Amino acid sequence: METKILKIDENNIDSLALKEAGEILKRGGLVAFPTETVYGLGGDALNPESSRKIYAAKGRPSDNPLIVHICNMDALKEIAAEIPEDAIRLADLYWPGPLTMIFRKTDKVPKETTGGLETVAVRMPSHKIAAALIEAAGGFVAAPSANLSGRPSTTSAAHVIQDMTGRIDMIIDGGESEVGLESTIVDFTEGAPVILRPGYISKEMLEEALKKEVSFDRAIIDADCKTAPKAPGMKYRHYAPKGELSIVEGEGDKVIRKINELTSKYEEEGKKVGVIATRETAGKYLAKTVKIAGSKGDEKETAHNLFKILREFDDEKVDIMLSESFNGAGVGVAVMNRLLKAAGHQIINV
Ligand code: AMP
Ligand code: MG
Repeated sequence: METKILKIDENNIDSLALKEAGEILKRGGLVAFPTETVYGLGGDALNPESSRKIYAAKGRPSDNPLIVHICNMDALKEIAAEIPEDAIRLADLYWPGPLTMIFRKTDKVPKETTGGLETVAVRMPSHKIAAALIEAAGGFVAAPSANLSGRPSTTSAAHVIQDMTGRIDMIIDGGESEVGLESTIVDFTEGAPVILRPGYISKEMLEEALKKEVSFDRAIIDADCKTAPKAPGMKYRHYAPKGELSIVEGEGDKVIRKINELTSKYEEEGKKVGVIATRETAGKYLAKTVKIAGSKGDEKETAHNLFKILREFDDEKVDIMLSESFNGAGVGVAVMNRLLKAAGHQIINV
């Protein structure tokens, strides 16, 4: 299949180009597009054939449900059988934006889209190209991250071109995704709200909005937890770079010493080593490849850069990656969640 690549300026959207992309989706084709979180791989969410194609293009297991993207609240009423007050409050505050909410689904949503579940995940993205595309496509776009299953999510069109060329009809290039990590997922289908995946909208932001405690699904904070995560996708190996990634955790100088010691050991073995550091510590590492995730304490900057860095290491054929640990508060919870998954939970404590 030939994949058309179309550059669109978010601040000056070419309506003809967008119409062409919308028509592809309406006909059952696939279009990758930018959102504020990561790039999405879009198909018509109400067309079972489109959802099947999404799973095939990504190589994604078909029991891993897709998020349905909408562009107005009327659309939510068509696909959610029940909309709790709390969800309306969060939608008022954080939609459009990087928040996904889970509802019981109506019959309008095919089981192919929800991985066989009776519930549906819904998000209203704020990226202007995403919103305009959803509208042009008829209002309901199923869109997982536009990466091959298992690989780091895509935060620029260049990443999508790497993974999806020849597999989908069109890639819209709209620049870098601002947030850089996937949306926060909140489940409302079992009473009290539960975070199934941490993201840019933090636990604290949700609690502040709802004036009540919001818990994390145990399976996402406890690597040894025996119960399956409530978001089926969280059980799969994810975000994995091709090399081996470990996180070194401990006090500042000890971390630097340990990473340098390991770097020497691996480089002597002839391996290519890459380090993920902060702006403040980068100069202290001996490795030939050192990448700055962000300034110390700026987890938003780290979130923006993380997947890009993991992909750069892949491109540079780095064998061993050693990362500092990042502060696990606010959006840092999401950064550490993705980093731990990418590392297969390999932590070196010093
Ligand atoms: P991605 O599309 O790559 O951002 O992944 C979507 C995530 O949302 C996966 O972890 C899914 O398992 C999760 N998800 C989607 N729909 C549901 C649902 N109905 N219930 C629970 N988790 C869901
Ligand atoms: Mg994904």
